[in-house]
Amino acid sequence: MPDGLPPRTLRDADALLAAGLITPAAVYDARAVGARYAIALTQAVARLITAPDDPIARQYLPHPNELISAPDEISDPTADAPFTPVKGVVHRYPDRALLKPLLACPVYCRFCFRREVVGPDGGLLTEAELDTAIAWFAHTPEVREVILTGGDPLMLSPRRLADLLGRLAAIPHIDILRIHSRVPVADPSRVTAALADALTLDKPLYLCVHANHAREFTDAARDSLRRLHGAGVVLLGQSVLLAGVNDSEAALEDLFRAMLAARIKPYYLHQLDLAPGTARFRVPAARGRALLQGLRGRVTGLAWPAYVEEAPGGAGKRPIGPGFPA
Ligand SMILES: *Cc1c(COP(=O)(O)O)cnc(C)c1O
Ligand code: SF4
Repeated sequence: MPDGLPPRTLRDADALLAAGLITPAAVYDARAVGARYAIALTQAVARLITAPDDPIARQYLPHPNELISAPDEISDPTADAPFTPVKGVVHRYPDRALLKPLLACPVYCRFCFRREVVGPDGGLLTEAELDTAIAWFAHTPEVREVILTGGDPLMLSPRRLADLLGRLAAIPHIDILRIHSRVPVADPSRVTAALADALTLDKPLYLCVHANHAREFTDAARDSLRRLHGAGVVLLGQSVLLAGVNDSEAALEDLFRAMLAARIKPYYLHQLDLAPGTARFRVPAARGRALLQGLRGRVTGLAWPAYVEEAPGGAGKRPIGPGFPA
């Protein structure tokens, strides 16, 4: 990372140019991509970029191909809309449901499956909408688990998070709370003692950390995870199989070992969803299966995630790893 990076999140093409992350020749295209999809690189992430197309750069720097949609790509690949009983809630499986309190993230991933809706000024539920969503959980006894996602729920202030988690945990039939987040690796400075306190609950809280490359586990990221673990949070990992980022046996092994070293149990390896403009990241499922097969036996069983894809038409997650039908 060149010197002189301003101490803040980079949010547009001109900021990327000023930081030396893109060339003057790339600014015009990057502005066009930025007009369509949100851009953000925290300092923590920008600092990790050493070459224009390295595994960190690929995840976050805008690329002109994002404006080209392949015929099989769709704007709502996980088909959340038909499973939304009230705003912000997605109830697809009987015993668990998603709650999306906001749609902002610390960084914006170029392959994001919710890229048509995530962004810095989008999707914060109003107090009334949040009350309605919490009331839906309170009145839906078959749901035993709330999964906070978005966007990234750890973008909420510790005070708001503590309030939200406390209200959800107070519902008698809710046994488990889960949060999906990229904050511990993408913006570890947000994991303060106040945030860790907000995540300390009487009921178990599972935090599923999204990371795709071993290099994302910096000292700061590992410290943030140690703090969360110390607060009693159970740490899981989820990754997306991405061409040019982690589509080799060595990259996956390094990633899963880095997770385990940071007290994270790899949970899911996702086949990339068919979000618009993401073709350059696609890896065939047969290749993914072969990569995982290659780790089998050689690498600790703790490292093994379930390899899953989102079945078309909202049918939900389907295991596609070794041993499952292709
Ligand atoms: C992925 C997902 C979940 C969580 O599924 P698990 O297999 O329990 O991790 C819940 N609801 C929706 C809509 C999902 O897409
Ligand atoms: S952190 Fe998750 S929701 Fe946010 S842009 Fe990345 S993949 Fe999308």
